[in-house]
Amino acid sequence: MLRVVVKSVLITLAVIVVGQVISYSGRMATGQPFTPYVFFMNSFLPLVTALPASLIIFWQQHRIQQAHLALKRAHEELAVRAAHDGLTGLLNRETFLARLGAPGALLLIDADNFKAINDTFGHAEGDTALRLIAAALRSGSSPSWIIGRIGGEEFAVFIPNASATEAASAGEKLRSLVANVQFYPVHSTPYPLSVSIGLAVGTEDIDLQHAFRQADVNLYAAKAAGRNTVVASSVKPRLVSHSSVA
Ligand code: GH3
Ligand code: MG
Ligand code: MG
Repeated sequence: MLRVVVKSVLITLAVIVVGQVISYSGRMATGQPFTPYVFFMNSFLPLVTALPASLIIFWQQHRIQQAHLALKRAHEELAVRAAHDGLTGLLNRETFLARLGAPGALLLIDADNFKAINDTFGHAEGDTALRLIAAALRSGSSPSWIIGRIGGEEFAVFIPNASATEAASAGEKLRSLVANVQFYPVHSTPYPLSVSIGLAVGTEDIDLQHAFRQADVNLYAAKAAGRNTVVASSVKPRLVSHSSVA
């Protein structure tokens, strides 16, 4: 508001000065006297015309700038919301998939026996458990890792450029972090949480669809092995097609 007033006053002063100079020169050139009354009118008229006009224009400009800023903020907030899952704050499925890039390690992470949590304690406690699992996964991830919630009780992590050893230890770390989560759906009675992890790692340019299939097979194997387990394997590099010359 102060800026609006200052700018309007400066503009008005400039109009007065220019007006006085033009009026004075004109009167001198035509031999007319430059009286105190003329000086007063040259100053008074801009005060009742240029000043209110400037105030209105600068005030409107200020409001348009404010609206622009609010729109920009809303746009940024919307972009963040559109990319993230509302319950856990992790990337949503679409954004997770869009950010993948080979080579690296893909971890498909599925909460174990999750239906039992909902059935026993209700959906709200199930939601709390999902948030706790997501927080544990996030706490064990490095900033360069891509981490998302890709389904109801399914999460995924992509570790760019991970070696097989790095990927295996990352999977084990995440599994163990979730297994150590303190979940108290009923007062003072802890309930164990765990995840099974299917891991596919490729050190060269891997076919992501192939990596997903392989991680899924490994996840199934981890469930079959009793859950709360990581099963890993390597993905073959993308097949390079050679054109044959006849
Ligand atoms: P498994 O160890 O074989 O994965 O067993 P599971 O019970 O986890 O698997 P199942 O696919 O039978 O059940 C998944 C459950 O996850 C069922 C569904 O209601 C629950 N679920 C999915 N999304 C949400 C959610 O957003 N909130 C809550 N509370 N539950 C969810
Ligand atoms: Mg599932
Ligand atoms: Mg499950």
